[in-house]
Amino acid sequence: MTRREDLSVQEGERVTTPMFDVLVAGAGGGGLSAALAAADRGLEVAVVEANESYRTSSNTAMSTAMIPAGGSRWQEAAGIDDSPQDFLADIMRKTDGSADVAVARALTEVAPDLVAWMADEIGVPLGLVTDFRYPGHSADRCHAVPDRSGRALHSHLVDEVDRRSNVTMITPMRLTAVERSDADQISAHVERPDGTSEETTAGSIVLATNGYGARPDFIARFIPEIENALYHGGPGSTGDALVIGKTMDADVAYLDAYQGHGSVATPHGIIVTWAIVMHGGILINSAGSRFGDETQGYSEYAVPVLSQADGIAWVVFDARIGEACRVFRDYQDLVTADAVRWSDDAAGLASIVGVSAEVMGETLRTARGSATGSAPDAFGRMAWEQELSPPYGAVKVTGALFHTQGGLCVDEHARILSAGMPIPGMYAVGGAAVGISGHGASGYLAGNGLLSAFGLGYIAGNHVAARQ
Ligand SMILES: Cc1cc2nc3c(=O)[nH]c(=O)nc-3n(C[C@H](O)[C@H](O)[C@H](O)COP(=O)(O)OP(=O)(O)OC[C@H]3O[C@@H](n4cnc5c(N)ncnc54)[C@H](O)[C@@H]3O)c2cc1C
Repeated sequence: MTRREDLSVQEGERVTTPMFDVLVAGAGGGGLSAALAAADRGLEVAVVEANESYRTSSNTAMSTAMIPAGGSRWQEAAGIDDSPQDFLADIMRKTDGSADVAVARALTEVAPDLVAWMADEIGVPLGLVTDFRYPGHSADRCHAVPDRSGRALHSHLVDEVDRRSNVTMITPMRLTAVERSDADQISAHVERPDGTSEETTAGSIVLATNGYGARPDFIARFIPEIENALYHGGPGSTGDALVIGKTMDADVAYLDAYQGHGSVATPHGIIVTWAIVMHGGILINSAGSRFGDETQGYSEYAVPVLSQADGIAWVVFDARIGEACRVFRDYQDLVTADAVRWSDDAAGLASIVGVSAEVMGETLRTARGSATGSAPDAFGRMAWEQELSPPYGAVKVTGALFHTQGGLCVDEHARILSAGMPIPGMYAVGGAAVGISGHGASGYLAGNGLLSAFGLGYIAGNHVAARQ
């Protein structure tokens, strides 16, 4: 990678060829995938990243690194029967048919190639997750790095970009405006945190600046149901793609869509993986009662958790589940932070939560009846891997907003659309682009975020290269 102080067009000089074949704004999963795909097809690439802390604070680095693909070679090796069509059907089912089907089809079709490319060309040590399955997936199809941490995943891409001499990376540098100067090049206005700015030019521009989760006025306007939630995403998600897109009359859609999460440890701010629920864990409120079918999905469970007293709930599990979740870096972080509190019996759990032993005993007894099938579950929960048995672990949690899923409309090549037609040379990927989660929180199928980032990034990088 080439590191430079500036990207400037020389003053007074008439520039007839773009300085870069492609300029990528944002160095998360979407931007780095686009940069690597384009660079490996011989293009000169610039990446501008607004936040110096992007190695830890991009959403990609904060994620649990699960990338879904139906029909991958890992699945084939494991004897799992799956396909892009089955995956697409799951996305459409989870969104009640409301997802952008062209983008969802493009992503499910590219996903097997994408994970193979990430492993073979980028050197990401991906493996298939078979120890639990997120709600809504009809097959084991999430691919992840060994410790299931976004930071490890993201650092592989950063390191790989470092090795490319045809990628210029500049940080901190923020893309603030773009303007088409002629048919073959686009002018970009970029700014440093000290307010100094520069102009540069590129044949194509990829907006990979994520969504608007960190922009409270946009959240209040587009997704009021989650405006009072803890925001547990990156500080760089300030909606820049929407602002820039507006100046180009770009189409936008699904601005009410988001990924919520029903279990972020409080006050620790660490994700309590939903794998705990899928292994048989339950959520109870501070009155000691369950309040829904936890297996609907973690995204749609944010609002029910926030609706409990003080917006608080407790995730309850047992030693078997704790052991199964040790593979997650986040779970290890919870243990290190002393966020998991253990008790030998229902009475001990009751005193942790602050309810009577009778109430807690009844809640656990009823949950056991549902898990063993001896009585129907009051909330209709069907998936219970096993009933809970003492000792019990408990983590105090709240509901959170992780990231937004709506954005700039794109076609199957990740080209930004205006009045339904592609804007020449302009691409949007990841959280900057329209997602595949339909409306609201409930359409979010685990993995939709990273698939949109890496998948659209890979598609955009290759498409830019093909049109040069
Ligand atoms: C806690 C958490 C867990 C998650 N777990 C998963 C998971 O397991 N699976 C999954 O699929 N999804 C998950 N997601 C969602 C997923 O992380 C995101 O959807 C995805 O990482 C978005 O990638 P991106 O490249 O679009 O954005 P990011 O990774 O956020 O990168 C965007 C970058 O752009 C920079 N930027 C912003 N504006 C500008 C500008 N104007 N100029 C230059 N740079 C700019 C930002 O600083 C940032 O570094 C999770 C999200 C969170 C918060």
